[in-house]
Amino acid sequence: MKTLLVAESRQNKLLSGSYETVAFARRMDAEAVMFLVGSESDLPKFDGRLYLVESSAAGEYNPEEHLRLLLEVVAKESPELIVFLHSSYGWDLAPRVALALQASQISEVIDCDGGEMVVPVCNAKLQRVVAARSAMTVVTLQTGAFSLEGVPSGSPTVEKLSGENDTKIRFIGYEEAEAGGVDLSKAGVIVSAGRGIGKPENLAMIEALAKALGGEYGASRPVVDSGWAEHSRQVGSTGQTVAPKLYLACGISGAIQHLTGMKKSEFIVAINTDRDAPIREVADVLVVADLKQFVPALTASLENR
Ligand SMILES: Cc1cc2nc3c(=O)[nH]c(=O)nc-3n(C[C@H](O)[C@H](O)[C@H](O)COP(=O)(O)OP(=O)(O)OC[C@H]3O[C@@H](n4cnc5c(N)ncnc54)[C@H](O)[C@@H]3O)c2cc1C
Repeated sequence: MKTLLVAESRQNKLLSGSYETVAFARRMDAEAVMFLVGSESDLPKFDGRLYLVESSAAGEYNPEEHLRLLLEVVAKESPELIVFLHSSYGWDLAPRVALALQASQISEVIDCDGGEMVVPVCNAKLQRVVAARSAMTVVTLQTGAFSLEGVPSGSPTVEKLSGENDTKIRFIGYEEAEAGGVDLSKAGVIVSAGRGIGKPENLAMIEALAKALGGEYGASRPVVDSGWAEHSRQVGSTGQTVAPKLYLACGISGAIQHLTGMKKSEFIVAINTDRDAPIREVADVLVVADLKQFVPALTASLENR
């Protein structure tokens, strides 16, 4: 099987997530070629052919032009799988490629076994196993689902493609979010609140436990999306990536997007009423309890020491 891996770069820096596509190809035991709109000054460590387009020529992102270039590579290589990250780039470009090729698309793949792909459904409460029936398939990979063991190595054989800037869409630039909020990556202890806290008033008990442990509080995305905590407290693929000495997940189920942001923590304690919650797979200790009882009791015992 041949795969075309679509790497990503931002402001001429290769995004390390690109290696997740390499990990996926290895899991599939597939031959791989790579496509990158980026810079020769920061090439991926990859043993194979790399089709490179300088972003100065094709625009950091220009759907029309990136689609044209990708189709050029597809025509040369005839891959069976075209692999994107499930990123803002992949979300936008993958369906355009699938439509142009009349290929099937499987989005947000978290696991694979031969031709079968696993994707989360029902807010990651269930998993669906699917297999494409078309000769060519476009897939997007959920961040953190595939990772390389060890440091990537190799140097690609570069084949340059020329980009075109004179298109209907023109990339103008990025707008940085305002700086501010909390830098959770520096915290030694993080106590995170999940949807299991039930209501915004209960965030205070998470904050109190974090304070008693000399740490910071974090949150899962539903807590942030509900406006109960600021975005800078969000842990996960669309929040911060943290690796504290101690991470307490309170009322957090353990969806892959959350695990991506905290699974490298040194010691993980999960407090959950559901003994089968997926968080148990990364937790060193799973406390099966109602957090509304357990968290204040733990805080009180820490404060009374
Ligand atoms: C593109 C994309 C990006 C995403 N990015 C992120 C991200 O960056 N970060 C993130 O967190 N999510 C992210 N998500 C959302 C993610 O898929 C999950 O929906 C989310 O992580 C679930 O949050 P949760 O665990 O708090 O809630 P739920 O999945 O609803 O889990 C709540 C948990 O609380 C437990 N519980 C309920 N009551 C109690 C109680 N009284 N005591 C103890 N336990 C209790 C339940 O058993 C359950 O396990 C993203 C999703 C997508 C599609």
